[in-house]
Amino acid sequence: MNQGLLSVDEALAILLEGARAVATTEEVQTLDACDRVLARAQVSTMDVPPMDNSAMDGYAVRIADVAVPGVRLRVAQKIMAGAIGVALEPGTAARIFTGAPIPPGADAVVMQESCVAEGDSVVVNQPPRREEWIRRRGSDIRTGAPVLPAGKRLLPQDTGLAASVGIKWLPVYRKVRLGLFFTGDELVMPGDPLPPGRIYNSNRFTLNGLARMFGCDVRDYGIVPDSLQATRDVLRRASAECDLIVTSGGVSVGDADFVKPAVEAEGSLLMWKIAMKPGRPLAFGRVGEAAFIGLPGNPVSSFITFLIFVRPFLLKTQGIAGAVPRAIRARADFDWPKPDTRREFLRARWNEEGGLDLYPSQDSAVMTSTAWADGLVDNPARQAVRKGDTVSFLPYPELYR
Ligand code: AMP
Ligand code: MG
Repeated sequence: MNQGLLSVDEALAILLEGARAVATTEEVQTLDACDRVLARAQVSTMDVPPMDNSAMDGYAVRIADVAVPGVRLRVAQKIMAGAIGVALEPGTAARIFTGAPIPPGADAVVMQESCVAEGDSVVVNQPPRREEWIRRRGSDIRTGAPVLPAGKRLLPQDTGLAASVGIKWLPVYRKVRLGLFFTGDELVMPGDPLPPGRIYNSNRFTLNGLARMFGCDVRDYGIVPDSLQATRDVLRRASAECDLIVTSGGVSVGDADFVKPAVEAEGSLLMWKIAMKPGRPLAFGRVGEAAFIGLPGNPVSSFITFLIFVRPFLLKTQGIAGAVPRAIRARADFDWPKPDTRREFLRARWNEEGGLDLYPSQDSAVMTSTAWADGLVDNPARQAVRKGDTVSFLPYPELYR
Protein backbone atom coordinates (compact mmCIF):
# COMPACT_ATOMS: atom_id res chain seq x y z
CA MET A 1 0.00 0.00 0.00
CA ASN A 2 1.43 3.37 -0.98
CA GLN A 3 0.63 6.61 0.76
CA GLY A 4 1.46 10.25 0.22
CA LEU A 5 3.60 12.48 2.41
CA LEU A 6 2.90 11.82 6.09
CA SER A 7 3.85 14.09 8.97
CA VAL A 8 6.18 12.72 11.66
CA ASP A 9 3.35 12.77 14.18
CA GLU A 10 0.89 11.00 11.88
CA ALA A 11 3.41 8.27 11.12
CA LEU A 12 4.32 7.92 14.78
CA ALA A 13 0.66 7.57 15.79
CA ILE A 14 0.11 4.74 13.28
CA LEU A 15 3.37 3.10 14.32
CA LEU A 16 2.55 3.18 18.02
CA GLU A 17 -0.92 1.86 17.36
CA GLY A 18 0.81 -1.28 16.10
CA ALA A 19 3.21 -1.64 19.05
CA ARG A 20 2.38 -4.28 21.65
CA ALA A 21 4.15 -4.59 24.97
CA VAL A 22 6.07 -7.81 25.50
CA ALA A 23 3.80 -9.83 27.77
CA THR A 24 6.38 -12.12 29.36
CA THR A 25 7.99 -11.08 32.59
CA GLU A 26 10.80 -12.60 34.59
CA GLU A 27 12.29 -12.15 38.04
CA VAL A 28 15.84 -10.85 38.19
CA GLN A 29 18.01 -10.10 41.17
CA THR A 30 17.88 -6.44 42.09
CA LEU A 31 21.64 -6.42 41.59
CA ASP A 32 21.13 -7.33 37.90
CA ALA A 33 18.06 -5.18 37.29
CA CYS A 34 19.72 -2.00 36.02
CA ASP A 35 18.48 -1.03 32.55
CA ARG A 36 15.60 -3.51 32.74
CA VAL A 37 11.98 -2.36 32.68
CA LEU A 38 10.00 -2.92 35.87
CA ALA A 39 6.87 -4.97 35.20
CA ARG A 40 4.99 -4.32 38.48
CA ALA A 41 4.92 -1.34 40.81
CA GLN A 42 6.89 -1.91 44.00
CA VAL A 43 5.57 -1.01 47.44
CA SER A 44 7.62 -0.84 50.60
CA THR A 45 6.92 -3.42 53.30
CA MET A 46 8.98 -1.52 55.85
CA ASP A 47 9.80 1.92 57.21
CA VAL A 48 12.99 3.64 56.04
CA PRO A 49 14.97 4.35 58.04
CA PRO A 50 13.86 1.30 60.02
CA MET A 51 14.69 2.98 63.34
CA ASP A 52 15.31 6.46 64.73
CA ASN A 53 19.01 7.09 64.16
CA SER A 54 21.67 9.73 64.38
CA ALA A 55 22.56 11.89 61.37
CA MET A 56 25.89 12.89 62.93
CA ASP A 57 28.78 11.73 65.04
CA GLY A 58 28.15 13.38 68.43
CA TYR A 59 26.17 13.00 71.65
CA ALA A 60 22.55 11.97 72.15
CA VAL A 61 20.98 14.10 74.89
CA ARG A 62 17.75 15.18 76.54
CA ILE A 63 17.32 18.81 75.50
CA ALA A 64 15.88 19.64 78.94
CA ASP A 65 19.36 18.82 80.32
CA VAL A 66 21.23 21.20 78.02
CA ALA A 67 19.08 24.33 77.83
CA VAL A 68 22.06 26.67 78.33
CA PRO A 69 25.60 26.57 76.87
CA GLY A 70 28.36 24.85 78.85
CA VAL A 71 26.42 22.09 80.64
CA ARG A 72 28.52 19.07 81.60
CA LEU A 73 26.95 15.58 81.27
CA ARG A 74 28.28 12.15 82.17
CA VAL A 75 28.74 9.96 79.05
CA ALA A 76 26.94 6.85 80.23
CA GLN A 77 27.04 4.75 77.07
CA LYS A 78 28.55 4.53 73.59
CA ILE A 79 26.37 3.51 70.64
CA MET A 80 28.03 2.53 67.36
CA ALA A 81 26.18 2.03 64.05
CA GLY A 82 24.69 -1.47 64.15
CA ALA A 83 24.48 -1.55 67.97
CA ILE A 84 21.54 -0.87 70.29
CA GLY A 85 21.77 1.49 73.28
CA VAL A 86 19.85 1.56 76.54
CA ALA A 87 17.41 4.20 77.81
CA LEU A 88 19.10 7.55 78.36
CA GLU A 89 19.01 8.46 82.06
CA PRO A 90 18.31 12.15 82.80
CA GLY A 91 21.55 14.07 83.24
CA THR A 92 23.57 11.75 81.01
CA ALA A 93 24.64 11.74 77.38
CA ALA A 94 25.29 8.89 74.96
CA ARG A 95 28.29 9.00 72.68
CA ILE A 96 26.69 8.20 69.32
CA PHE A 97 27.83 7.73 65.73
CA THR A 98 26.15 8.35 62.38
CA GLY A 99 23.51 5.72 61.66
CA ALA A 100 23.42 4.43 65.25
CA PRO A 101 19.99 4.02 66.89
CA ILE A 102 18.82 6.86 69.12
CA PRO A 103 18.46 5.59 72.68
CA PRO A 104 14.97 5.88 74.25
CA GLY A 105 14.64 9.20 76.08
CA ALA A 106 16.99 11.21 73.84
CA ASP A 107 15.39 13.97 71.79
CA ALA A 108 18.40 15.56 70.07
CA VAL A 109 21.93 14.83 68.94
CA VAL A 110 24.62 17.43 69.45
CA MET A 111 27.31 17.15 66.85
CA GLN A 112 30.73 16.50 68.26
CA GLU A 113 32.06 19.81 66.89
CA SER A 114 29.76 21.63 69.38
CA CYS A 115 31.09 19.66 72.37
CA VAL A 116 34.26 19.16 74.34
CA ALA A 117 34.97 15.66 75.68
CA GLU A 118 36.51 15.64 79.18
CA GLY A 119 37.28 12.18 80.56
CA ASP A 120 34.02 10.32 80.93
CA SER A 121 31.93 13.46 80.57
CA VAL A 122 31.14 15.97 77.85
CA VAL A 123 30.57 19.73 77.88
CA VAL A 124 27.83 20.80 75.48
CA ASN A 125 28.68 24.27 74.24
CA GLN A 126 25.72 24.75 71.96
CA PRO A 127 22.20 23.85 73.15
CA PRO A 128 20.51 21.76 70.45
CA ARG A 129 17.03 22.23 69.04
CA ARG A 130 14.51 19.45 69.65
CA GLU A 131 14.96 16.65 67.07
CA GLU A 132 18.24 18.08 65.85
CA TRP A 133 20.32 15.51 63.87
CA ILE A 134 17.76 12.79 64.48
CA ARG A 135 16.46 10.86 61.47
CA ARG A 136 13.09 9.49 62.53
CA ARG A 137 11.92 6.01 61.62
CA GLY A 138 9.87 6.12 58.40
CA SER A 139 10.80 9.74 57.63
CA ASP A 140 11.95 8.73 54.13
CA ILE A 141 9.59 5.83 53.28
CA ARG A 142 6.59 4.52 55.20
CA THR A 143 5.38 0.94 55.14
CA GLY A 144 2.93 0.62 52.25
CA ALA A 145 4.30 3.59 50.31
CA PRO A 146 4.96 3.16 46.58
CA VAL A 147 8.67 3.10 45.80
CA LEU A 148 8.94 2.33 42.06
CA PRO A 149 6.27 2.57 39.33
CA ALA A 150 5.68 -0.15 36.74
CA GLY A 151 7.09 0.62 33.31
CA LYS A 152 10.20 2.36 34.59
CA ARG A 153 13.57 1.58 33.06
CA LEU A 154 15.59 1.00 36.20
CA LEU A 155 18.56 3.23 36.91
CA PRO A 156 21.25 2.48 39.50
CA GLN A 157 19.50 4.70 42.05
CA ASP A 158 16.25 2.76 41.54
CA THR A 159 17.93 -0.53 42.38
CA GLY A 160 19.48 1.12 45.43
CA LEU A 161 16.05 2.32 46.49
CA ALA A 162 14.57 -1.17 46.03
CA ALA A 163 17.42 -2.66 48.06
CA SER A 164 16.88 -0.11 50.84
CA VAL A 165 13.44 -1.62 51.46
CA GLY A 166 14.86 -5.13 51.35
CA ILE A 167 13.78 -6.17 47.84
CA LYS A 168 16.10 -8.87 46.51
CA TRP A 169 14.20 -9.81 43.33
CA LEU A 170 12.38 -7.58 40.86
CA PRO A 171 9.83 -8.48 38.17
CA VAL A 172 10.95 -7.14 34.77
CA TYR A 173 9.79 -7.53 31.20
CA ARG A 174 11.62 -9.96 29.00
CA LYS A 175 14.11 -8.09 26.81
CA VAL A 176 12.80 -7.17 23.39
CA ARG A 177 14.42 -9.31 20.69
CA LEU A 178 15.48 -6.87 18.03
CA GLY A 179 16.67 -8.21 14.68
CA LEU A 180 18.88 -6.03 12.50
CA PHE A 181 20.07 -6.41 8.95
CA PHE A 182 21.73 -4.15 6.46
CA THR A 183 20.91 -4.15 2.77
CA GLY A 184 23.37 -3.08 0.09
CA ASP A 185 25.80 -4.76 -2.29
CA GLU A 186 28.18 -1.87 -1.64
CA LEU A 187 28.67 -2.71 2.04
CA VAL A 188 31.94 -4.04 3.47
CA MET A 189 32.80 -4.71 7.10
CA PRO A 190 35.61 -2.78 8.82
CA GLY A 191 38.64 -5.05 8.90
CA ASP A 192 38.09 -6.12 5.31
CA PRO A 193 39.80 -4.25 2.47
CA LEU A 194 37.63 -1.73 0.68
CA PRO A 195 37.35 -2.47 -3.04
CA PRO A 196 36.64 0.40 -5.46
CA GLY A 197 33.06 1.58 -5.32
CA ARG A 198 32.34 0.08 -1.91
CA ILE A 199 31.76 1.65 1.53
CA TYR A 200 31.94 0.42 5.10
CA ASN A 201 28.78 -0.76 6.82
CA SER A 202 28.67 2.02 9.38
CA ASN A 203 24.95 1.65 10.04
CA ARG A 204 25.60 -1.74 11.58
CA PHE A 205 27.53 -0.05 14.34
CA THR A 206 25.18 2.85 14.86
CA LEU A 207 22.08 0.66 14.98
CA ASN A 208 23.65 -2.06 17.12
CA GLY A 209 24.76 0.62 19.56
CA LEU A 210 21.31 2.18 19.66
CA ALA A 211 19.62 -1.19 20.14
CA ARG A 212 21.94 -2.04 23.02
CA MET A 213 21.46 1.38 24.57
CA PHE A 214 17.76 0.64 24.71
CA GLY A 215 18.36 -2.68 26.41
CA CYS A 216 17.44 -4.96 23.51
CA ASP A 217 18.49 -8.52 23.00
CA VAL A 218 20.07 -7.87 19.59
CA ARG A 219 20.10 -10.45 16.78
CA ASP A 220 22.35 -9.15 14.01
CA TYR A 221 21.87 -10.85 10.63
CA GLY A 222 24.60 -8.80 9.00
CA ILE A 223 24.82 -7.62 5.41
CA VAL A 224 22.13 -8.86 3.05
CA PRO A 225 22.77 -8.67 -0.71
CA ASP A 226 20.43 -6.62 -2.89
CA SER A 227 18.30 -9.52 -4.07
CA LEU A 228 14.68 -10.40 -3.47
CA GLN A 229 15.43 -13.98 -2.47
CA ALA A 230 18.16 -13.08 0.01
CA THR A 231 15.97 -10.41 1.58
CA ARG A 232 12.99 -12.77 1.85
CA ASP A 233 15.15 -15.51 3.39
CA VAL A 234 16.55 -13.31 6.14
CA LEU A 235 13.15 -11.79 6.84
CA ARG A 236 11.62 -15.21 7.35
CA ARG A 237 14.43 -16.28 9.68
CA ALA A 238 14.37 -13.05 11.66
CA SER A 239 10.58 -13.06 12.00
CA ALA A 240 10.73 -16.42 13.74
CA GLU A 241 13.33 -15.18 16.24
CA CYS A 242 12.48 -11.52 16.90
CA ASP A 243 9.80 -9.19 18.24
CA LEU A 244 10.93 -6.39 15.95
CA ILE A 245 13.02 -6.32 12.79
CA VAL A 246 14.81 -3.09 11.88
CA THR A 247 16.68 -2.74 8.61
CA SER A 248 18.73 -0.09 6.89
CA GLY A 249 18.61 0.73 3.21
CA GLY A 250 16.68 -0.62 0.26
CA VAL A 251 13.40 1.11 1.12
CA SER A 252 13.39 3.55 -1.78
CA VAL A 253 11.88 2.44 -5.05
CA GLY A 254 15.11 2.07 -7.01
CA ASP A 255 16.18 -0.97 -9.00
CA ALA A 256 18.15 -2.35 -6.05
CA ASP A 257 15.50 -1.78 -3.38
CA PHE A 258 14.11 -5.16 -2.40
CA VAL A 259 12.83 -4.50 1.09
CA LYS A 260 9.35 -3.48 -0.07
CA PRO A 261 8.66 -6.50 -2.32
CA ALA A 262 10.31 -8.85 0.19
CA VAL A 263 8.21 -7.70 3.16
CA GLU A 264 5.08 -7.69 1.00
CA ALA A 265 5.82 -11.26 -0.06
CA GLU A 266 6.49 -12.47 3.50
CA GLY A 267 4.00 -10.29 5.35
CA SER A 268 2.41 -6.88 5.00
CA LEU A 269 3.84 -3.42 4.58
CA LEU A 270 3.02 0.27 4.63
CA MET A 271 5.45 2.45 2.71
CA TRP A 272 5.65 6.04 3.80
CA LYS A 273 7.23 9.17 2.59
CA ILE A 274 7.63 11.17 5.77
CA ALA A 275 7.67 14.94 5.75
CA MET A 276 10.98 15.10 7.57
CA LYS A 277 14.58 15.78 6.70
CA PRO A 278 16.70 13.80 6.83
CA GLY A 279 14.94 10.48 6.40
CA ARG A 280 12.11 10.56 3.94
CA PRO A 281 11.35 6.89 3.16
CA LEU A 282 10.21 4.65 5.99
CA ALA A 283 8.60 1.24 5.84
CA PHE A 284 6.41 -0.22 8.53
CA GLY A 285 4.93 -3.68 8.49
CA ARG A 286 4.71 -7.10 9.93
CA VAL A 287 6.28 -10.44 9.07
CA GLY A 288 4.69 -13.31 10.96
CA GLU A 289 4.71 -12.40 14.65
CA ALA A 290 7.39 -9.75 14.23
CA ALA A 291 6.91 -6.04 13.62
CA PHE A 292 9.03 -4.56 10.87
CA ILE A 293 10.53 -1.08 10.50
CA GLY A 294 12.66 -0.32 7.45
CA LEU A 295 14.91 2.70 7.83
CA PRO A 296 16.60 4.61 5.01
CA GLY A 297 20.20 3.71 4.20
CA ASN A 298 21.77 7.12 4.51
CA PRO A 299 23.68 7.01 7.80
CA VAL A 300 22.32 10.22 9.29
CA SER A 301 18.80 9.34 8.17
CA SER A 302 18.86 5.89 9.72
CA PHE A 303 20.29 7.31 12.96
CA ILE A 304 17.63 10.00 13.23
CA THR A 305 14.70 7.87 12.10
CA PHE A 306 15.74 5.28 14.69
CA LEU A 307 15.59 7.92 17.41
CA ILE A 308 12.33 9.44 16.17
CA PHE A 309 10.39 6.28 15.24
CA VAL A 310 12.07 3.09 16.44
CA ARG A 311 12.78 4.50 19.90
CA PRO A 312 9.13 5.16 20.87
CA PHE A 313 8.05 1.93 19.23
CA LEU A 314 10.67 0.03 21.20
CA LEU A 315 9.80 1.75 24.47
CA LYS A 316 6.16 0.81 24.07
CA THR A 317 7.15 -2.76 23.20
CA GLN A 318 9.31 -2.81 26.32
CA GLY A 319 6.36 -1.74 28.48
CA ILE A 320 7.49 1.85 28.95
CA ALA A 321 4.66 4.32 28.53
CA GLY A 322 4.91 7.91 27.42
CA ALA A 323 8.65 8.55 27.54
CA VAL A 324 8.37 11.61 25.32
CA PRO A 325 11.75 13.31 24.88
CA ARG A 326 11.68 16.71 26.57
CA ALA A 327 12.74 19.36 24.11
CA ILE A 328 14.28 22.49 25.57
CA ARG A 329 14.00 26.02 24.28
CA ALA A 330 17.44 27.28 23.36
CA ARG A 331 19.04 30.22 21.63
CA ALA A 332 20.21 29.69 18.06
CA ASP A 333 23.64 31.21 17.48
CA PHE A 334 23.30 30.39 13.79
CA ASP A 335 21.32 31.42 10.74
CA TRP A 336 19.23 28.91 8.82
CA PRO A 337 17.92 31.13 6.06
CA LYS A 338 16.66 28.47 3.63
CA PRO A 339 14.50 26.03 5.57
CA ASP A 340 13.10 22.95 3.92
CA THR A 341 9.42 22.43 3.21
CA ARG A 342 9.68 19.44 5.60
CA ARG A 343 10.30 19.38 9.34
CA GLU A 344 14.06 19.26 9.86
CA PHE A 345 16.23 17.67 12.52
CA LEU A 346 19.44 19.67 12.48
CA ARG A 347 22.64 18.56 14.16
CA ALA A 348 23.70 21.20 16.67
CA ARG A 349 25.80 21.56 19.77
CA TRP A 350 26.18 23.85 22.76
CA ASN A 351 28.72 26.62 22.67
CA GLU A 352 30.33 28.29 25.68
CA GLU A 353 27.81 31.12 25.60
CA GLY A 354 24.99 28.67 26.23
CA GLY A 355 23.66 28.94 22.66
CA LEU A 356 23.57 26.42 19.85
CA ASP A 357 25.93 26.13 16.90
CA LEU A 358 25.01 24.24 13.76
CA TYR A 359 27.25 21.69 12.08
CA PRO A 360 28.33 23.24 8.76
CA SER A 361 27.06 20.32 6.67
CA GLN A 362 23.54 19.00 7.24
CA ASP A 363 23.90 16.43 4.44
CA SER A 364 22.26 13.12 5.39
CA ALA A 365 25.39 11.19 4.38
CA VAL A 366 27.68 13.19 6.70
CA MET A 367 27.96 11.08 9.88
CA THR A 368 30.52 13.53 11.28
CA SER A 369 27.63 15.87 12.10
CA THR A 370 25.97 13.34 14.41
CA ALA A 371 29.16 12.63 16.35
CA TRP A 372 29.98 16.34 16.63
CA ALA A 373 26.51 17.32 17.83
CA ASP A 374 24.96 17.34 21.33
CA GLY A 375 21.50 16.79 19.91
CA LEU A 376 18.98 17.81 17.28
CA VAL A 377 17.25 21.10 16.60
CA ASP A 378 13.65 20.20 15.79
CA ASN A 379 12.84 22.86 13.21
CA PRO A 380 9.29 23.18 11.84
CA ALA A 381 8.74 23.10 8.07
CA ARG A 382 9.53 26.35 6.29
CA GLN A 383 10.79 28.09 9.42
CA ALA A 384 13.83 30.25 8.80
CA VAL A 385 16.06 30.78 11.81
CA ARG A 386 17.98 33.95 12.54
CA LYS A 387 20.79 34.33 15.06
CA GLY A 388 19.22 34.97 18.46
CA ASP A 389 15.94 33.18 17.70
CA THR A 390 14.69 30.56 20.11
CA VAL A 391 14.58 27.02 18.73
CA SER A 392 13.43 23.65 20.06
CA PHE A 393 16.39 21.42 20.92
CA LEU A 394 16.38 17.68 21.63
CA PRO A 395 19.55 16.85 23.57
CA TYR A 396 20.86 13.32 22.92
CA PRO A 397 20.34 12.23 26.54
CA GLU A 398 16.61 12.87 26.07
CA LEU A 399 16.59 10.76 22.93
CA TYR A 400 18.58 7.98 24.57
CA ARG A 401 16.24 7.84 27.56
P1 AMP B 1 19.59 3.10 0.13
O1 AMP B 1 18.57 3.53 1.13
O2 AMP B 1 19.81 1.64 0.14
O3 AMP B 1 19.28 3.64 -1.23
O4 AMP B 1 20.94 3.77 0.58
C1 AMP B 1 21.08 5.17 0.63
C2 AMP B 1 22.52 5.56 0.86
O5 AMP B 1 22.95 5.05 2.10
C3 AMP B 1 23.50 4.98 -0.16
O6 AMP B 1 24.48 5.93 -0.41
C4 AMP B 1 24.07 3.79 0.54
O7 AMP B 1 25.34 3.44 0.07
C5 AMP B 1 24.12 4.26 1.96
N1 AMP B 1 24.03 3.13 2.88
C6 AMP B 1 23.11 2.14 2.84
N2 AMP B 1 23.32 1.26 3.81
C7 AMP B 1 24.39 1.69 4.52
C8 AMP B 1 25.08 1.19 5.65
N3 AMP B 1 24.71 0.05 6.24
N4 AMP B 1 26.14 1.88 6.12
C9 AMP B 1 26.51 3.04 5.51
N5 AMP B 1 25.89 3.55 4.44
C10 AMP B 1 24.84 2.90 3.93
MG1 MG C 1 20.73 0.25 -1.08
